[in-house]
Amino acid sequence: MSMLELRDVHAYYGAIHALRGVSLRVEPGEIVTLIGSNGAGKSTTLKAICGQVKTEGDIRFGGRSIASQPPHVTAREGVAHVPEGRRIFPRLSVKENLEMGAFSVKDKKLIQERIERAFDYFPRLKERYHQAGGTMSGGEQQMLAIARALMMNPKLLLLDEPSMGLAPVIVEQIFAIIRDLNAAGMTILLVEQNAFQALQIASRGYVIQTGRVILEDDAKMLLASSQVKEAYLA
Ligand code: ATP
Repeated sequence: MSMLELRDVHAYYGAIHALRGVSLRVEPGEIVTLIGSNGAGKSTTLKAICGQVKTEGDIRFGGRSIASQPPHVTAREGVAHVPEGRRIFPRLSVKENLEMGAFSVKDKKLIQERIERAFDYFPRLKERYHQAGGTMSGGEQQMLAIARALMMNPKLLLLDEPSMGLAPVIVEQIFAIIRDLNAAGMTILLVEQNAFQALQIASRGYVIQTGRVILEDDAKMLLASSQVKEAYLA
């Protein structure tokens, strides 16, 4: 059974028909990437999965329908979303941001264990434990956003443009961490403008254009495809 499966999903912002029949699947242990140009519907696909936008069609997580389910319920069931632009709490410290990520965990010891585990992936955050999130660099804030999402111990991580606005050397670090998380067993659906790098770490990819999947294949095949090269790897 696929971990995540979307079948003919449509999404609407009022009168705007943003997704026009998106079908995709993510298998346990995979990194799957969604690529496409600005406004294609990549972020909306993640929002549809999380229940943050009105949808029609079938969305299944672990075989069970999660379509139109309230976002906090889907989060509790194991789907973590790191939105575009990171949205950490700027006035809260690293520690407090991480604690907020574990909002439904009552066991203090468990929260502490998960913070320690986050520091294994993000040692920079340990150095900045008491610093306000908003005063950190863009790369550190992205790391904090991912670390916060991991606090719920998710089964599936939805990452929306983690490389956005970051210097190339920081982007390399973020992608290395995504690869490490996946090597440790995390299943990841990765939205990226940076198609080249995303396809290099993904096993499979989907190309979205005006709310539809126009191409899907193994990441290697997409990297070699002339259509993808022309439109997205230029
Ligand atoms: P980007 O990288 O620019 O975020 P994207 O592929 O993620 O691109 P979406 O953000 O999913 O694209 O947007 C898909 C379509 O939905 C676009 O036409 C966009 O203008 C529209 N849209 C997105 N968010 C809203 C909103 N809150 N209200 C109205 N329309 C929206």
